[in-house]
Amino acid sequence: MATNLLNYDARRLADFCAEIGEKPFRAKQLLRWIHQSGVTDFVAMSDLAKGLREKLSALAVIESPQIMSDHEASDGTRKWLLAVGAGNGIETVFIPETNRGTLCVSSQVGCALACTFCSTGKQGFNRNLTVAEIIGQLWMANKLLKPDTEDVSPGTQRVVTNVVMMGMGEPLANFDNVVMALDLMLDDHAYGLSRRKVTVSTSGLVPALDRLRERCPVALAVSLHAPNDDLRDQLVPINKKYPLKELLAACQRYLAVAPRDFVTFEYVMLDGVNDSVSHAHELIKLVQDIPCKFNLIPFNSFPGSGFKRSSAESVRVFRDILLQAGLVTTVRKTRGDDIAAACGQLAGQVMDKTRRTANARAACIK
Ligand code: SF4
Repeated sequence: MATNLLNYDARRLADFCAEIGEKPFRAKQLLRWIHQSGVTDFVAMSDLAKGLREKLSALAVIESPQIMSDHEASDGTRKWLLAVGAGNGIETVFIPETNRGTLCVSSQVGCALACTFCSTGKQGFNRNLTVAEIIGQLWMANKLLKPDTEDVSPGTQRVVTNVVMMGMGEPLANFDNVVMALDLMLDDHAYGLSRRKVTVSTSGLVPALDRLRERCPVALAVSLHAPNDDLRDQLVPINKKYPLKELLAACQRYLAVAPRDFVTFEYVMLDGVNDSVSHAHELIKLVQDIPCKFNLIPFNSFPGSGFKRSSAESVRVFRDILLQAGLVTTVRKTRGDDIAAACGQLAGQVMDKTRRTANARAACIK
């Protein structure tokens, strides 16, 4: 079977080059052709020797997940459903803003962590995505969003300026593949994004968060959603294994090396559940020792969720209390509402195997 080179970061690509009798520096050329130019035909890689191009054509491919659907919302948000085999589909969302373009990338087919307000969590879990399937989302978006030009030379202008690992799945539960994809995002011969412009969002897998700090400390977002353990145990069940005290201590350790000097806490606003004045005051006390920002997320309803979005007034009051306490707080705009591309709405297409979900959950909490 042909080797999919999208699965390889710089080091593995150099190993692959050595295996086929080529000099390791070829890896850098290949990275640029694959990730900067989006070229899939080895014959078009004009600065590679003809013999190498023939060898690559025989042995390797460059394949990202196939597009099943492609929708654009009235606000310009674009959502792709991508096929990843066996009837499964993952979702990737591009959010254009005035000075940047953010791509929300998935890391797993479904998610085993079953946060009660989350559409992905309701789908169960099928499997981890490969490196090619993770980086393939960025590769595909750059190709599709690139301004119309015949120029395929490396370095053509990019539209995606920021990546957030906030799509389907818990990124830190697919640690090795996610980190290799992050390496590619940061590699100057691939996407060259700065660590500040790549964000990993976690529900709080503390040991993996410590590993990320040591291995590849990019910007950090934490799905907090509750100001105390009793409530968080209900909303984010992984909290039973890694309660708030441990999670916040891990955030402090992370900040010692993080590219930004704050953690972004995500807080979905659920009517009558976590949005009261007393919850806001409890939250202020909880994070008093942690440099942080808050992102309040109006809940996006989906069938069978059992939750309602907090009223605009409750969100405003909650935000103002945090602001008055000196916490930088923004209310996330709901983008792409009309194509179900807003936060917590990514459903994809998950062929759930109940045993797989149970096994994956057990692996996260062991
Ligand atoms: S919020 Fe994140 S960790 Fe929780 S179920 Fe959804 S995708 Fe998984």
